[in-house]
Amino acid sequence: MSSFNFDVITLFPKAFELINNLGVITRALDKNLIDVNLHDLREFGEGSYKQVDDKPYGGGAGMVLKPEPIYKAHESIRKSPKSKTLLMTPQGKVLKQKDLLRWLNLDQIIIICGQYEGFDERVRCLADEEVSIGDYVLSGGEIPAISIINGLTRLLPGTLGDPDSLVDESHNSSLLEYPQYTRPQVFRNMKVPDVLTNGNHKDIRLWRKEQQLKRTFNRRRDLMKSNDIKKFDCDENDLRRF
Ligand code: SAH
Repeated sequence: MSSFNFDVITLFPKAFELINNLGVITRALDKNLIDVNLHDLREFGEGSYKQVDDKPYGGGAGMVLKPEPIYKAHESIRKSPKSKTLLMTPQGKVLKQKDLLRWLNLDQIIIICGQYEGFDERVRCLADEEVSIGDYVLSGGEIPAISIINGLTRLLPGTLGDPDSLVDESHNSSLLEYPQYTRPQVFRNMKVPDVLTNGNHKDIRLWRKEQQLKRTFNRRRDLMKSNDIKKFDCDENDLRRF
């Protein structure tokens, strides 16, 4: 039994072959930390054509997923007491790192992927949460589902080689990550900042914090908390000067 089960209801199970080729996720699958169970919506379709979609009442472009096959697929999944059902929809709450952290307390996530023009409104009743991966529209919920599986799996203990790599990274706190460099020290005239090669760990810590503040201030001021600036003992004018 894996520590975390993903059950995905989808018309395109083949899309999920991608997760077998995504580095750390492959490792998590190999180590049996996660299981990804694909439930092919077509198998729950109706009639000899296994119909899963139909024209919308009231008219309008495109086809809409019917409720019965999705309900049947959802009912066929064995649910653990710590299970949640997520519905992929551009109308949902936009996914944040803190959502992934919150879902770590579960041991099963059921993901419903829409297609075409979406799904019958009554499908929403199955969802504990409706999730969007951003303010744009994709053709199906498969890429959003893979994003959730990927983002959550890398947080599971035992997945990443070094769990410390999660600590400083962007979106783990209200600050973005500092710039990172590796060898060579000079590459096409671009030099690694001296502070990183001098070996003074206190200076390095300070430089990194300063860079985090500067980056977040310049790129994503919306993420910053007021005490981020205070904690560093500087004010907005200092940041503007960076
Ligand atoms: N007409 C629908 C969009 C349909 S897009 C509407 O306006 O709400 C088809 C399917 O792709 C959706 O049902 C959903 O499952 C998925 N999808 C598209 N964009 C998405 C996004 N940003 N986040 C999550 N799922 C999305």
